[in-house]
Amino acid sequence: MFPAPIQKLIAHFQKLPGIGPRQAVKFALRLTKMSAGELKAMSADVANLKSVIGECKECFMLFDRPQPDSFSLCRFCRQTGRDANKICVVINDHDALTIEKTNTYDGLYHVLGGHVSLLDKEKNRNLNLLALKNRIASRPKESTEVILGLNATAEGQATVLYLEKLLADSGVKITRLAQGLSTGSEIEYADDQTLINALKHRR
Ligand SMILES: [Zn+2]
Repeated sequence: MFPAPIQKLIAHFQKLPGIGPRQAVKFALRLTKMSAGELKAMSADVANLKSVIGECKECFMLFDRPQPDSFSLCRFCRQTGRDANKICVVINDHDALTIEKTNTYDGLYHVLGGHVSLLDKEKNRNLNLLALKNRIASRPKESTEVILGLNATAEGQATVLYLEKLLADSGVKITRLAQGLSTGSEIEYADDQTLINALKHRR
């Protein structure tokens, strides 16, 4: 049994996605080797996180918040010249930034916050699904396009089907990324050209 403070750290790390017990132990033990200064800096950054980042009230993207509550929109939603008729639904900020990096998309984003679970409905309550529905409802039907920028994995495709159903009555155009994104692949790991093609040939 590890000393109690180490056990506490292990429990913290295990809350992170993809971190199992063994990796959590590794992280905790690694911390014991770091200097007091490094640990202080790290814990301060963690402690301050909520006060230095904001979540866009429109698309749920995270952004730097230099002054608390000075503004509530991310740089994409504030940027003039972006095509507000296009909304690309993504799982997380990382996928949005990966798409952004291709320099071919000029619309807005909507961060879902995770995949839709068909088994665990309770889990879906944490997703920004209702906000998406409301956001779409306030847009002009004829000119709005919702692009489902989701992974070509089983859970990505289950989310696509769910969203298509959710927005079926909205009257907006709904498109998916083209299958240039081969089955099983994730946006995060797709190369630029693949992503550019998947966006270009969306349908
Ligand atoms: Zn935003």
